[in-house]
Amino acid sequence: MTATDDGLVRAAIDAMATRFELVIVAGDMDAGRARAIGEEALDEIARLEHRLSLFRPSSDIAGINAWAAERPVKVEPALFSLLQRCVALSAACEGAFDPTVGSLSRLWKAATTIPPSSAIEAARCRAGWQHVILDADASTIRFARKGMTIDLGAAGKGYAIDRAIAVLESQGIARALLHGGTSSVHALGAPPDDTGWRVGWSGDSRGNVFELRDGALSVSAVHGRVFSSGGRTYGHVIDPRTGWPIERRLSAAVTGPASFECDVLSTALLVHGADWLPALQARFPGYEGLVNLP
Ligand code: AMP
Ligand code: MG
Repeated sequence: MTATDDGLVRAAIDAMATRFELVIVAGDMDAGRARAIGEEALDEIARLEHRLSLFRPSSDIAGINAWAAERPVKVEPALFSLLQRCVALSAACEGAFDPTVGSLSRLWKAATTIPPSSAIEAARCRAGWQHVILDADASTIRFARKGMTIDLGAAGKGYAIDRAIAVLESQGIARALLHGGTSSVHALGAPPDDTGWRVGWSGDSRGNVFELRDGALSVSAVHGRVFSSGGRTYGHVIDPRTGWPIERRLSAAVTGPASFECDVLSTALLVHGADWLPALQARFPGYEGLVNLP
């Protein structure tokens, strides 16, 4: 982390298979103090990765995936409320976002060609937020079906950014920009001599630039981990209702007050396509969606 002459403190961390970068406007605050706060915020992201990663055998999510089909698994209150929010959002997104997509994402991530339809159907039957049983009194989660797998890949980055932003705010940072892998970004206040942080969307043929101030932007697109078959390109976002990856050449962006919701909703918008924009706007006041051809 460095403090520069322009009063900006910069920091970065590799976590959640991506790079998070933070810029803090130190203003009147001592640069060393701003730096320490920035480090604490990024540490929070690393801490959350250890708890939420599907791929870390010691994570809370790995523990849930290993045991929740056998018996209720007790989880700490913050994770319980995250799971509750995920399930509520799955319902509000009509299943286009689904944190239990793990059986399908595993199948398609390993695929180099289209899997047999019996394998797709078997994985689809092991996904479904309706089969998650949450007991608020006991703070437990249980799966109603065997083989279910929680995968917070579509929401974890946004959640971690919100938590890191909360660390910054609680320690008096009023102006900062934090992004994770360029697909999720959160702005606090505005940079020096400007009304907001200007963020370009590279997946947008119309060259949209968003001006963010105390708000978030998340983008989902069919790129990255993909494979092609029969002249079609398949992405890493799956429609949990059909079991198939999204192959439309689209990107979806959502802006709004919280990074977590933006992350969830941009994934859901990519699955639904532009027809879902009125529903998104009606159901999630303060959030706005955009769908574009890259
Ligand atoms: P994002 O880039 O935020 O759209 O998230 C994509 C990641 O979330 C994928 O790599 C999967 O791990 C997971 N995922 C894929 N499809 C879905 C879905 N429909 N709902 C929830 N998570 C998903
Ligand atoms: Mg997402």
